Amino acid sequence: MWDTIKKPEALRAQAQLTSGVRAGLSWAKIEDELLDGLPDGGLNIAYEAVDRHVANGFGADTALRWLGKSGDRRDLNYADLGAASSRFASVLAGHGLGRGARVFSLLGRQPEVFYAALGTLKAGMTFTPLFSAFGPEPIQTRMEIGEANALVTTEAIYRRKIEPWIKDIPSMRLVLIVGDDAPEGCVALGPAMEQASPEFDTVHTQPEDEALIHFTSGTTGRPKGAVHVHKAVVNHASTGRYALELKPGTVYWCTADPGWVTGTSYGIIAPLVNRATLVIDEAEFDLERWYATLEREKVEVWYTAPTAIRMMMRAGRDAAKGHDFSALRFLASVGEPLNPEAVVWGNEVFGLPFHDNWWQTETGGIMIANTMEMDIRPGSMGMPLPGIEAAVVTVEGGNVKPCKPGQIGDLALKAGWPSMMRAYLHEEARYKKTFAGDWYISGDLAMQDQDGYFWFVGRADDLIKSSGHLIGPFEVESALIEHEAVAEAGVIGLPDETAGEVVKAYVSLNPGFEPSEELEKSIRGHARKTLGPAVAPRTIEFRKTLPKTRSGKIMRRLLKARELGLPEGDISTLETDES
Ligand code: ATP
Ligand code: MG
Repeated sequence: MWDTIKKPEALRAQAQLTSGVRAGLSWAKIEDELLDGLPDGGLNIAYEAVDRHVANGFGADTALRWLGKSGDRRDLNYADLGAASSRFASVLAGHGLGRGARVFSLLGRQPEVFYAALGTLKAGMTFTPLFSAFGPEPIQTRMEIGEANALVTTEAIYRRKIEPWIKDIPSMRLVLIVGDDAPEGCVALGPAMEQASPEFDTVHTQPEDEALIHFTSGTTGRPKGAVHVHKAVVNHASTGRYALELKPGTVYWCTADPGWVTGTSYGIIAPLVNRATLVIDEAEFDLERWYATLEREKVEVWYTAPTAIRMMMRAGRDAAKGHDFSALRFLASVGEPLNPEAVVWGNEVFGLPFHDNWWQTETGGIMIANTMEMDIRPGSMGMPLPGIEAAVVTVEGGNVKPCKPGQIGDLALKAGWPSMMRAYLHEEARYKKTFAGDWYISGDLAMQDQDGYFWFVGRADDLIKSSGHLIGPFEVESALIEHEAVAEAGVIGLPDETAGEVVKAYVSLNPGFEPSEELEKSIRGHARKTLGPAVAPRTIEFRKTLPKTRSGKIMRRLLKARELGLPEGDISTLETDES
């Protein structure tokens, strides 16, 4: 058990949630603030994120600070971003696209993503970002499922991955190419933006109008297209404030790729709605560069993922020495369970613990979080945010039954929060199956302790049953990475005649360690000591890297399928995969 990290009283007092609760925070209140936000009624995410601030006299505040790979920088203030997104909306409308059209993007961390997303929403159309690193096949499938009408991408991506099949998508009307030139049949975005009007009458969408479609990470199988509506902005606004401590002017860096839901909900909407300044680093993870960016840009709030944190830990504490991180006032993590060791490591290196929070593509925004005002129990994902009713339950005959503290069950949420998905595209039955009465069943297993903290156990599919014990892979993985040699671990259950299942672990090692029988013994010994012999892995296999999705999640189902010689299933989102 790790010690609780206590928050000083001064920090608790300045937490936004504290002041929000004191002021009688409720959904109704936040909704009132935002709903009917457009001057003559209607609700549009883009208006809330940008134009509202310009209308209120904050047009000169910095909205985006973009840091290019090769050292170039570009600042866009709220007025610039408002005008650029209006031009983008004008380009779409000028090409005959109307309300309800679906606009896909395949872009890296570049300024175009931001005004494309906001411009699409302004035009009353649906924005769907995809990972620019996807291969042609996953892109095509998703554009077919989503009945894409437009695509914005780069020439290189278009030529390599899109050109051969784009004509086969009957719904497609427009391909926009970033830059001044475009291949035949496409439109160059640069000149189109210049010619387009910087004035655009934001479409008066209604709260329940479709705004975003996000495909899930595909960790457990075939990705689903989750549909979100404009009203989701109520969650983005409130969670940005209360779970990420965003205020007007906060320098905020979200490292998520624009191709998945975090990149939109917390990489675009939540910070802009809260009038923060968004730092965007075009480069992928690069330890030295990341430390330098945190320091030079005086980042105050940083939202990243366990996979990146584990890479930092792997490089060792010394790499962080000599940097001044004093501007940082809040660190958060999402995407996968955050090992307790990583929380404590953050506290030592940055002087602040990482605040783990839990949510899904389907929930559209953060649901359970460690907030600034809370004491942190390393390894816990925190507590439900105000307005969110979460519970650990068992589902029987379509009804939910609450579990006792300490008992493992399904993590469920009472339906009805604004950013809840409204459908899985073309998969009505799959959507319906996620509900039991009023409750949305997340597919994750969790446990709640006596004091109300939620603890992630594993995905329902990944739970291991061994000799009568229920074993969550996360607990085993966290114990393994406490060993000095282990950088990352993925744990699965393998069929066994006597025990039902036995635990197998795959581990990658820290620099300076080589696989050996002796090391395996030492790691197994450590696991037995911390977890007990019934839960510790029976076998350990060393790997250079673990298979992960593009959003950075360990794909345990793939490790298992390969081990058992079963079909690999949908691996369209697989990123790293060396053995
Ligand atoms: P798919 O649904 O296609 O299998 P996915 O579930 O990985 O993919 P996402 O919606 O991107 O797709 O990820 C949400 C999931 O990520 C959660 O259901 C949970 O399993 C995991 N997750 C996210 N944040 C946390 C967290 N803080 N702690 C533990 N798990 C987390
Ligand atoms: Mg999922």
